[in-house]
Amino acid sequence: MDELNRICKDYENEITDFLRKIISIQSYTGEEKEVAKTIKQTMEQLGYDDIIETEYGDVIGVLGDGNTTILIDSHMDTVVVNDADQWKHDPFGGDVVNGKMYGRGASDMKSAIASSVYAGYFAKKMGLLTGKTVYVSASVMEEDFDGFALKNIIEKLPKKPDAVVIGEPSDRQIALGHRGRALLEVHTKGVSCHGSAPENGVNAVYEMSEIIQRVNELNNTLYKNEGQHGSVVLSKIESTAVSLNAVPDECTIYLDRRLANGETFQVIEKEMNTLIEGTKASWNVYDALGRSYTEKEFAMHSFMESWAMDPEDPITVAMKKAFEGATGEGSKLFHWNFSTNGFASTAKGIPTIGYGPGIMKCCHMKDEHCEMNDVFDATRIYAKFINEFNN
Ligand SMILES: [Zn+2]
Repeated sequence: MDELNRICKDYENEITDFLRKIISIQSYTGEEKEVAKTIKQTMEQLGYDDIIETEYGDVIGVLGDGNTTILIDSHMDTVVVNDADQWKHDPFGGDVVNGKMYGRGASDMKSAIASSVYAGYFAKKMGLLTGKTVYVSASVMEEDFDGFALKNIIEKLPKKPDAVVIGEPSDRQIALGHRGRALLEVHTKGVSCHGSAPENGVNAVYEMSEIIQRVNELNNTLYKNEGQHGSVVLSKIESTAVSLNAVPDECTIYLDRRLANGETFQVIEKEMNTLIEGTKASWNVYDALGRSYTEKEFAMHSFMESWAMDPEDPITVAMKKAFEGATGEGSKLFHWNFSTNGFASTAKGIPTIGYGPGIMKCCHMKDEHCEMNDVFDATRIYAKFINEFNN
């Protein structure tokens, strides 16, 4: 595989230019049109066998037509920049300083797009595609709707993947999974009346206050669990009253509940029923509404269970070999703290593993950057993974 090192070396400038180009195109969630076009063009120029586009605007490059099917997924949307004046480098400039490229999406996760697009190309160039079908996906809207796009992609692909690689940044470690995520709403109703005589009404916010206490207590209890634990936070509260001189008749709180292994819907259902016990409140799972750049509207049911791959699973073993072969270093396994599109593939029972260039603590931060050497290494790691993984 010295051949792979040589080819990758030859293409370092081209990979760098491609990454700079896609960083320079702003692509906030639901606004990925231009970056999608550029990624598609690059796949065409690199001689991808086919390119599939979904109704939501995802771009999936196809290579080979063998039986073992591998999907490498990166999302092309980023979080917004609202602190540009505090950045040392233009967030859409792609400046390279001391081997680091700066810009929104450098770590989360346009570097993985660059690595995976070129890894597919190298795999083809080197003849590593015998018996393989490789899908390289650049997916939409992950930041607000993690799992939604990838679920749809998997359902639309001609072949169901045997392995999915999630390219979110992993600090040169292999990610075996992450906690699940549920967004929950709790509602209380009151009786509106004039604010000058509140005794005539029922205040929906006061009805909620007992529940808010319980949310905080629940979070403290969850932290007492050994090992991986769930968490819950009240992330938003809203109430409606006919005016500022009236008793509010409705109150809603939103809970961001992170789910440990084994915290299924049944577990959360019981927990939520206990949370509102003795009150007149109701609760439900939040349906997040979205609209893609292709102008398709959708609702995403916000309940995704945690996932964790076995360290001895063939997909883990293949990724370890790929990492060790490409870097000459020993591999480390860990679990992400954040959530990813991996929800979608694992919910469909597809073995899924995480590895991506980029620095986790840079995500969503000013001066986001990535090490270009990590990008080149990830390119070779993905190419080797394509070679190593067999169904
Ligand atoms: Zn991300």
